[in-house]
Amino acid sequence: MNIENLYAMYLRSQTVSTDTRNIPMKSIFFALKGNNFNGNKFAKQAIESGALFAIVDEKEYADESEDIHYVEDTLNALQKLAEFHREKLTIPIIALTGSNGKTTTKELITAVLSKRYNVASTIGNLNNHIGVPLTLLSIHPNHEIAIVEMGANHQMEIDFLSKIAKPDFGYITNFGKAHLEGFGGEEGVIKGKSELYDYLKKNEKTVFVNCDDKKQVELTEGIRKITFGSDPKAEFSFKFSKSINGDCPEIIYDSTHFKSQLTGDYNQSNVAAAIAIGLKFEVPIEDIKAAIEEYIPDNNRSQIIHQNDLKIILDAYNANPSSMQAALLNFSKMKGDKAIILGDMFELGDAAAKEHQAIIDLAEKLEFQTIFLIGKFFHQIAVNYKNIRSFENRETAEKYFSENPIQEKQLLIKGSRGMALEKLLEIFSS
Ligand code: ATP
Ligand code: MG
Repeated sequence: MNIENLYAMYLRSQTVSTDTRNIPMKSIFFALKGNNFNGNKFAKQAIESGALFAIVDEKEYADESEDIHYVEDTLNALQKLAEFHREKLTIPIIALTGSNGKTTTKELITAVLSKRYNVASTIGNLNNHIGVPLTLLSIHPNHEIAIVEMGANHQMEIDFLSKIAKPDFGYITNFGKAHLEGFGGEEGVIKGKSELYDYLKKNEKTVFVNCDDKKQVELTEGIRKITFGSDPKAEFSFKFSKSINGDCPEIIYDSTHFKSQLTGDYNQSNVAAAIAIGLKFEVPIEDIKAAIEEYIPDNNRSQIIHQNDLKIILDAYNANPSSMQAALLNFSKMKGDKAIILGDMFELGDAAAKEHQAIIDLAEKLEFQTIFLIGKFFHQIAVNYKNIRSFENRETAEKYFSENPIQEKQLLIKGSRGMALEKLLEIFSS
């Protein structure tokens, strides 16, 4: 099938779907394959549930009379369609990548720009080779600007996603120790994420640069840029208040104070980026202020929860060495007695033992009253420490906590997604 025909089907459909569990009416369904599922098998069911078209890549499931169409590779067709659609769009597209804080920054920018524009933006964390095409295909004629989150865990992924999304503007939140395994170490992370810079440079597009991050300044030399940060020479020059009690510092621009509800000084750069982007796109400053102040994070990212007498900082959405370090340093600034529950950090490859050890060393140095560690990596090292209680998995920890409530008044919970530490909340609420 040629791309024009596919595009015509897309235009007739109201939405694009790939999820076999939920196929909206009048959608175009792309049958994708994973390790444990084959979407082709659901094509007929998609049509029966109200999809207008289904695209499959196994001939036996195709049936033109039912509008189930065959292509060689469904994923490739989805990506090509997204690129084709993007090429027809004339609205500005802002792409975001980085090791930590992409979704938070994306949500903040979306909140700010939505004060003035009809914004299309990545839903949740749909930031990969499927999510980015779906985000692009969710851009409709009435949208005025789009924000696309791009994630990566190996080289050439951001390059690939940039070529589909063809952003006019880009921003890299930071370079940290995330997905070390796939990228091949820290230098690999910088190289991989910088593929966005390469794209912007080659295509004479614009980058937003946080000038307080020397690495970003260095890597964006020669690219058209908009700068922000504490440098008085920056296009948007901010002042930052001191972080009190681990809160995200206030940002001051032109005598306007921006105070977010986010916890953690590491969110300062995320908020600053959203303000700078809002200013660049001429959102009235009072509206930017309101958007920043109204934004409340959800889905386990830097959430503050009060349960009984306990104040919990739940950061169980994800963890890697740099976000773990940021969270620990931040938590240590809070007043009063503190306990931490940390879960294993995944995808570290050969660096796993060293990085888990470094986090234990930091936690010890910061003198939290009680340290609990959960997971295979932490447990292996922690058995050598008399003052640390560790568990091989979450289940054994749950059993322990149900019999031994936390003594301290403040608790930080952080671990990789696979550890699902938010499940511990049920124990602390009972
Ligand atoms: P993912 O790779 O899963 O898409 P992400 O880059 O979208 O992650 P967020 O979901 O916004 O990141 O944030 C995840 C966690 O990263 C936060 O809860 C916080 O602990 C940490 N974090 C956020 N911003 C920063 C930052 N600027 N520096 C360090 N850590 C940060
Ligand atoms: Mg994300």
